[in-house]
Amino acid sequence: MILRPLHRALLPRSAGDGMCFMLIAAGVPLTYIFQVTVIMPELHNVGSFWYTIIWLAGIFLVFNITSNLLACMLVDTSIKMHILKPPLEPQLLSRWHMCDRCQALVPPRSWHCETCDVCVLKRNHHCRFTCCCIGHHNYRYFFYFLFYMGLGALYVTINASIYLWYLHADFYWRPYTLVTILVPAISLTVHASWENFYVVIYELNILAFLMSVLMLIYHRPILQRGTVVKDRLSNAYNLGLRGNMEMVLGKRMYWTWLSPFVRSELPHDGVNWLPLTKEE
Ligand SMILES: [Zn+2]
Ligand SMILES: [Zn+2]
Repeated sequence: MILRPLHRALLPRSAGDGMCFMLIAAGVPLTYIFQVTVIMPELHNVGSFWYTIIWLAGIFLVFNITSNLLACMLVDTSIKMHILKPPLEPQLLSRWHMCDRCQALVPPRSWHCETCDVCVLKRNHHCRFTCCCIGHHNYRYFFYFLFYMGLGALYVTINASIYLWYLHADFYWRPYTLVTILVPAISLTVHASWENFYVVIYELNILAFLMSVLMLIYHRPILQRGTVVKDRLSNAYNLGLRGNMEMVLGKRMYWTWLSPFVRSELPHDGVNWLPLTKEE
């Protein structure tokens, strides 16, 4: 695994990337503080068994969201991660192609990203929230970032729903709450209050949950068929569900859910691909 320099990994490549990243960088800690200081003390006795368990679960979720996000950004999955030498075997070499932008012969399944301005090994897509391309070496972290983001957002949404619509229904069941949901920026400008702020965080969590679920559904063929977004219906590299999952999560895939720090070597170098079928 090769890491990119910190200053390059954290520097957004476009305004859109920067805004999406800031949404996560601000939204995750704010949601955690909202959950721990506002919601949890009303749902459980502070210091009780369930309070401690849920508090620990919250830390586990926040740790996995942020560390997988950072791993995604830091792990270099571009063709520049090491000096790529085209293979000597004609069968493998014939599958490489010239990238005019990189001015280099690049391996099969590598595509150029206009935003990152580099070819990416087994490129999936450019992710605005992580400000980088998702490819062969960082897909694992992207997958767990999405998974834990969806899980965390669902959990907060359920708890916040109880807080807003049941415990404080007398306050929140009013037309202005709908205004805050529809136009949060205007609502907060006109009437800045903690109550309105809670509604905005609640809304952000619903959006985070829906986006994570939609992205996971959209990416399902990648695990099911061993594809990438560009040719998501191809069966050319389909190794079966277990083989495909190992290709993105690594040889110790059953432990990778614990943390991005669990080492799990990928079974392929991401360079010399040979299709299993003629279809591609
Ligand atoms: Zn290129
Ligand atoms: Zn990119």
